[in-house]
Amino acid sequence: MDLYPVDAMKYVIVSGGVLSGLGKGVTASSIGVLLKSAGLNVTAIKIDPYLNSDAGTMSPFEHGEVFVLDDGGEADLDLGNYERFLDVTLGKDNNLTTGKIYSKVIESERRGDYLGKTVQVVPHITDSIQDWIEDVAHLPENGTNKIADVCVVELGGTVGDIESAPFIEALRQFQFRVGSENICFVHVSLVPVMGPVGEQKTKPTQHSVRELRGLGITPDVIICRSKTSLTEDARQKIALFCHVKPNAVLSASDVSNIYKVPLLLDQQGALVLLSNKFKFKIPVNRPLLDNWREMAIQVDDLEKEVSIAMVGKYTGLSDSYLSVIKALNHASIASSRKLNIEWIEASNLENNVANSDPEIHADSWERLKKADGILVPGGFGDRGIEGKILAAEYARTSSTPYLGICLGLQIAVIEFCRNVLGWKDSNSTEFNDNTPYPVVIYMPEISKTHLGGTMRLGSRRTIINDEKSIAFKLYNENKNIHERHRHRYEVNPDLIESIEEAGMKFVGKDDTGQRMEILEISDHPFFFATQYHPEFKTRPTQPSPPFYGLLMAASKQVY
Ligand code: GLN
Repeated sequence: MDLYPVDAMKYVIVSGGVLSGLGKGVTASSIGVLLKSAGLNVTAIKIDPYLNSDAGTMSPFEHGEVFVLDDGGEADLDLGNYERFLDVTLGKDNNLTTGKIYSKVIESERRGDYLGKTVQVVPHITDSIQDWIEDVAHLPENGTNKIADVCVVELGGTVGDIESAPFIEALRQFQFRVGSENICFVHVSLVPVMGPVGEQKTKPTQHSVRELRGLGITPDVIICRSKTSLTEDARQKIALFCHVKPNAVLSASDVSNIYKVPLLLDQQGALVLLSNKFKFKIPVNRPLLDNWREMAIQVDDLEKEVSIAMVGKYTGLSDSYLSVIKALNHASIASSRKLNIEWIEASNLENNVANSDPEIHADSWERLKKADGILVPGGFGDRGIEGKILAAEYARTSSTPYLGICLGLQIAVIEFCRNVLGWKDSNSTEFNDNTPYPVVIYMPEISKTHLGGTMRLGSRRTIINDEKSIAFKLYNENKNIHERHRHRYEVNPDLIESIEEAGMKFVGKDDTGQRMEILEISDHPFFFATQYHPEFKTRPTQPSPPFYGLLMAASKQVY
């Protein structure tokens, strides 16, 4: 049989066991990369069993970054992993939550679609989940009529959670709906090391696979996360107790960089397992994987350092800025520099703050001043705002390269108005409703009563209006660019003329010319800020232009 690429949609279902934060998303995206390397078109769905409709109202400090999609969907950060790894554009429906499924079923019930029947988790919720997965898997890729060959479905959370039960049950039924030859269950688990001799313990994996099998799903492949590679002993034991062949137990040990994960799985025959199951041929040459290999080597070989101070709000969860970190990483590869991020808590830069520690204050300033470039990322709420303004002032007056993103643009405007135009107490109405100079204001069309999904969201066009600008050069001399947004406030359109006269230029605006998208200051090596979030469209081999500009300027190459 030589079906190319495959005869029917194939599904790879990735579940997780033992604990969360295992890197299931990266593992699942890496499987996608391997399938892609065999010439298959791959799409992805992330299931989040929480009750929220989407991640839009969730705190990034609790859940990690909110990832914004082209269509305005506010999704789990794993969607970002899929877009970056698979180089695809996904939509809000690629992120399925309990909230979305229940809303849909309850809406149908209110319409009378169930014809008087009692509406239940099984079969109504479980059917609706299966329909959703099938429909979304078959959606053509953005802007094309190309339908994927394989859909990777990642189930968030850990097997055995109360919330994920309806999804597990739906996926159990799904194997009969699509046929077992079209579905492959991959379970990602943890193998911890205990004791003085460092023995790898397989019991947690055994338990979580038993739980999964008790729910009617037998994994085809088990991927074990561990510090060092899985010993032969551990592999045999897991195979024996978990009802899989030893060659279907793969080891995903810690690696020096993320690009090595697909390579590691490939070396152990992950793609062979999938090709046996799904009946496709693995081509002899797989240039895509060669690229990944090259990237992995390149990242390990970077020597010359560049340091970027990230001035934000921190709570120890660096996932809250995941895409920004990725964008910096991609730009660091393209500019051949080893990236060193200095995390600076914005409020520690502020003077006269009650209970601020003078030593921490001094240390924060020292680290800020030592950095080669300064980045103020997006944010909400007023903590640390004054510290960010001081950082922007320092960048502007010391000719240190500055990149401001969304809030970082608004901060740059406030600072400029206060210190260059002398508009005392300029502010955003987000932080001070009674400011004498409201230089950043609430956008008129935004709801004041509903928080979910009501911001200016998703991909919008920016028109670059100055061919001499850095923006024009960075975006390959394109005048029309499309980037993703997520904000409620904007630079006050009534004040643009005065601000521009003083030397801050808005070189990118929206279609109406009323909304400021990109700013630059001309007598500065690199002072650049965007109202949009360029970090959401970065790719390993195509870094986001503003980040590339920052790294090139910070490492004194060009720009
Ligand atoms: N809080 C600001 C606004 O709503 C900035 C948002 C952001 O940085 N994403 O406009």
